[in-house]
Amino acid sequence: MQNKKYNAETERLMDLMIHSIYTNKEIFLRELISNASDAMDKMYYIALNDDKVKFNHEDYFIRITPDKEKRTITIEDGGLGMTEEELVENLGTIAKSGSLDFKNLNKKDADHEIIGQFGVGFYSAFMVADEISVLTKSYKEDGGHLWKSKGADGYSIEDAEKENHGTIITLHLRENSEEENYDQYLDEYKIRELVSHYSNYISYPIKMEVEKKRPTADSTDDDPKFESYREDDVLNSSVPMWRKNKNELKDEDYNNFFRQRHFGFEDPLAHIHISVEGMISFKSILYIPSRRPFDFLNPDKKGGLELYSNGVLIMEKCEDLLPDYLSFVKGVVDSEDISLNISREMLQKTRELQLIKKNIEKKILDELAKILKNDREKYAEFFENFGVSLKSGAYENYGADKDKLKDLFIYTTTKRDHVTFNEYRKNMKPDQDFIYYANGSSIEAIKDLPQIKHFIDKDIEVLALTDPIDEFVIKMLEEYDDKKFKSISETDDVKEEDEKSLQDYVKKMKEILEGEVSSIRENPNLKDDAAYLSSKGEISIEMEKTLSHMPNNQGFKADKVLEVNPNHPALKKLKEMDEASEDFKTYTKLLYDGARLVAGLDIEDPIAYARNVSKLSLIHISEPTRPLYIS
Ligand code: ADP
Repeated sequence: MQNKKYNAETERLMDLMIHSIYTNKEIFLRELISNASDAMDKMYYIALNDDKVKFNHEDYFIRITPDKEKRTITIEDGGLGMTEEELVENLGTIAKSGSLDFKNLNKKDADHEIIGQFGVGFYSAFMVADEISVLTKSYKEDGGHLWKSKGADGYSIEDAEKENHGTIITLHLRENSEEENYDQYLDEYKIRELVSHYSNYISYPIKMEVEKKRPTADSTDDDPKFESYREDDVLNSSVPMWRKNKNELKDEDYNNFFRQRHFGFEDPLAHIHISVEGMISFKSILYIPSRRPFDFLNPDKKGGLELYSNGVLIMEKCEDLLPDYLSFVKGVVDSEDISLNISREMLQKTRELQLIKKNIEKKILDELAKILKNDREKYAEFFENFGVSLKSGAYENYGADKDKLKDLFIYTTTKRDHVTFNEYRKNMKPDQDFIYYANGSSIEAIKDLPQIKHFIDKDIEVLALTDPIDEFVIKMLEEYDDKKFKSISETDDVKEEDEKSLQDYVKKMKEILEGEVSSIRENPNLKDDAAYLSSKGEISIEMEKTLSHMPNNQGFKADKVLEVNPNHPALKKLKEMDEASEDFKTYTKLLYDGARLVAGLDIEDPIAYARNVSKLSLIHISEPTRPLYIS
C-alpha cells in the first residue's frame, strides 16, 4: 500500500470541501453520477475505434446503493476505469486550468464561488463524506486498485480485486450535526428526488434496488397479506426529449414536456426543436408561451433557459443564452461543448455560449417570421402578449438589433388590422413620401383626432401607435425601405417669411401663448375642428407624455405648434374680435387648452377652463341662434 500526499491546490480544495458551509451539498451526487456517465461515454468511444472492446449500450448503467447500517452510499459504473497512474493523476491532483483561478479568491468567496459555480467534481463528495474509497479497474488491465482517503491529509492506493472494468465509489457519510443532516442521503426517496432533479437526463439508466410490497400467494380480498421484496428501479428518464428525433414526437409530447418542466400551465403557442452539429453541437427545445406570465413586466424577473452539459443540469436559468428581448422564451439547451464545471462568469465569455445564443436567436426569429407569414391570427395573439418585448429589442443597445426585428412588428392602421411595415409600404400611394403614423390610446381615439380626417379624405393609410414604446421604436428605425416615418402631428418647419405674413389675429394669439407654443399656423385641413396641437423637432407630444412618467424625467418638452382652422366659425368669430380685449385672451386660451386636452396633456388651470366653457354654453343655450363666440 502506498500513502501519498495531495498536491497543494488539491489539498486547499479538499480543505474547502471539508469545512464547507455551502448549503447545496447535495450536488455531490450529481457530480459523481456525471463522472460515471462520462466514464461510460469514454468507453463507448474507445469501443468505436477498437474491435477488441465490445460496447453494448444496454449493458451500461449506473447503480446507486445506500446502506443505512454502514452509513455508506455507493455509486457504481461500468466505465473505462482507472489505472494506478490515472488514479494518482485524476484524484490526487487538480489539473483543470479553470480551477487555478480560485487561488486568488479569499476563503469565504471561494467556498461559494468554487462549489456553486465550478461544480468541483469528485472532491465535492468530501462535503458529505468523512471517508471515500474508489475501487476501480481499467479496461486496459487485469487487476484493480483501491484508492482511499479521509481528507486533506492524503490518500492511499493498494491493489484490489475487481471483476469487470469500471469504478465503484463508496462514501462514508459524516455524522449528523446540528446544522446538517447527512443521513438523508441514505434515504431512497431523497436519492430519487436528487436524481430526478439533477440527473434525470443522463443517457444511461440510473438504477437503485428498492423495497417494494406485493400480495402474498395466499392473500385474498377478505384477508389481504403482503410481503416485501426488493427490485431494481430506474430513477431517471434516461433519454432526454431533446435527444429524440423530431419525427418520433407529436405536438402532444412537446406540450406535455412544457407543463412537466413548469414552463407554463397552458399549451405553448409554438415549439422549436433544434439539433445542431458542427462548430458547436447542441440540442434544444424552445417554447414560445401562449400567454404572458403574471410577473412578465416585473423588471427583477429573470428569464433564461435550462442549460445542460451532456444531460447534466448545470444552470436552471441561464440568461446568457437569450438576448433580453427574447427573455420570454422558455426551454432547455444541452451541449456537450459546454463544460460541466464552468463558472457563470467564465460561461458568459465562452465562444461556445455565444455561438449557441446566436443560433437560438436566429431560430426563434425565423419561427416567428414563419408564424407571421402562415398564421396571422396566431401571430397577432403572440404580438399582443410579447410584442412589447420585441419592440424593446429594437431600440435597446442603440438599435443594434433593429434590422432583425423590424419585419416582425404588426400594427393596426386606419384601414386594416395586423399590418407589417412591408405591407404598409406596398400599399403606399405612388406620390406618398412618408410612412405616416398617429399616436393615441386606441385606434378609435386615433380615428377621432382632428388632424387625421385630412389623411382619411386623401385615402392615405396611417399606422396607429397605441403603445407608448411604439414611438421610440419608430424614432430608432427612422425609415423603412427608404421611406421616412412621419407623425401626422408633426408639422413642417414654419419659415420666417411665413411668420412675417401671419395675420394680425394669429400674431396676437402667439403673443398671448408666449412660452407655451413656439408658433401658430393656420391649417385649413382641420375640417370640423377649430384647433389642434402639433409638434416639430425630436420630441413629439407623445414622447413628452411618456418621458414625464419615467423615473428620471428631465422635464423634456415637445416644441409645440398650435394649428388653427381659419374656416371654422369659432376662428372666424375670433378674427372679428377686438384683439386687445379680455375676451380675445380668454378664448385664445380656451382654444389652446382644448387642443392640449385632445393631445392628452394636462391643462394649467382646469377650473378657469371649466368656468369659461360653462359661460360659453350659457350664452349658446340662452340665445341659440347666436354664434358661439360673443364678445
Ligand atoms: P472532472 O470530472 O471535471 O474532470 P473530477 O474531479 O470530477 O473532475 O474528476 C477528475 C477525473 O477523475 C476525471 O476527469 C476522470 O478522468 C476521473 N474520474 C472521476 N470519476 C471517474 C469514474 N467514475 N470513472 C473513471 N474516471 C473517473
